[in-house]
Amino acid sequence: MLKLRFEVRDDKDILLANARRANRDNAMQRGEICARHYATGKGVALEWRDGVITNLRATTKAVANDKWLAPTLVDLQVNGFAGVDFQRDDLTVDQLLTATRGLRAAGCCRFLLTLVTDEWTKLTARLRHLRKLRSQSSELEQAIAGWHVEGPFLSSEPGFHGAHDPALMLDPEPEKIHQLRSLTENDALLLTLAPERKNALEAIALATSLGIKVSLGHTNASTEVLHQAVAAGATCFTHLGNACPQQLDRHDNILWRALDTPGLTVSLIPDQIHVSPQLFRLVHRALGKESIYYTTDAMAAAGAPPGAYTIGALELEVGADQIVRQPGRSNYAGSALRPIDGVFRAAQMLRCGWREVWDGFSVRPAKWFGLNSRLEVGEPANFCLLSIIAENQLAAAQCYVHGYSNT
Ligand SMILES: [Zn+2]
Repeated sequence: MLKLRFEVRDDKDILLANARRANRDNAMQRGEICARHYATGKGVALEWRDGVITNLRATTKAVANDKWLAPTLVDLQVNGFAGVDFQRDDLTVDQLLTATRGLRAAGCCRFLLTLVTDEWTKLTARLRHLRKLRSQSSELEQAIAGWHVEGPFLSSEPGFHGAHDPALMLDPEPEKIHQLRSLTENDALLLTLAPERKNALEAIALATSLGIKVSLGHTNASTEVLHQAVAAGATCFTHLGNACPQQLDRHDNILWRALDTPGLTVSLIPDQIHVSPQLFRLVHRALGKESIYYTTDAMAAAGAPPGAYTIGALELEVGADQIVRQPGRSNYAGSALRPIDGVFRAAQMLRCGWREVWDGFSVRPAKWFGLNSRLEVGEPANFCLLSIIAENQLAAAQCYVHGYSNT
């Protein structure tokens, strides 16, 4: 297969044009792959031309038993990857490309670049800088589907703020929501906030009216406030089971309240660390899988060896157990999980096959956020080709973007 060929450029041409040019150069305008479809288990032939799927049909050709075709993974919360910390002010296009390629090698071809709590002027300057970097590369434009701003409109209560600096928390005043919208123009934007903060309900309604998706998180809101937040337009709860104290009231705590609030999709970090297997199974039983999607909440150590890493000003340690520790503290600070590993760990926790959980890290987050990740005629030829040698044993994964593979 041809190598993925992207180029760093200054103009705003779309990736498709780039792919077409590469195709012409290589005299390869079309491609076909035969594999077993992840949903049906049946052999299919996927054809594409100029980076777009043109046919997907049952095939009578012999298909290797271990070769599978699945949609690419979509991660809505990525703080860094492959040694690159997205919270740094001096990031370069090359560093973002390193992280993007690391994610693609882990099955994920689109993600929301996530910024965490910082001083407002620093946070907004960082967002402007990142948008500028993204506009310089067609590869980044394709991969960074938008932005997730997690903070500073979060709870500053102990335990609920997690690794975010409580001293930097702010109330979500309307002008800040307008500022976020205007500086990101028409980019897809996800905002995680705590609805108990002053002005938060108005901010949720305003953000929603401006096309910003709102998720609740790092919160100790009452049941009443959670219901009001949903009525105002919030539709998700960020990394349920985290951003709360180690010890919770057994009768009334944020987990029970969130699970008991209709209208919320929840995201879970399926690394077997952030959410215990028992709670993971219970959340699936309580909500049903259609109301759950998976995310890594990855930081720079994901897709990189153990060692010392940062999230902005935070110095962190990551051991061989992949737990991201803040020295001297009990909370986690993001994960070192690769998206594709999350699929297999989720399957392990739910005691099922990988095919049953794949959508939770691809189709469902994409659908909730308004992206399409389905394997369908007319859609970009983005897909994962997997080699699964035994039940839940991944031997290799290759991610194709517009018909070009990453290896
Ligand atoms: Zn968080």
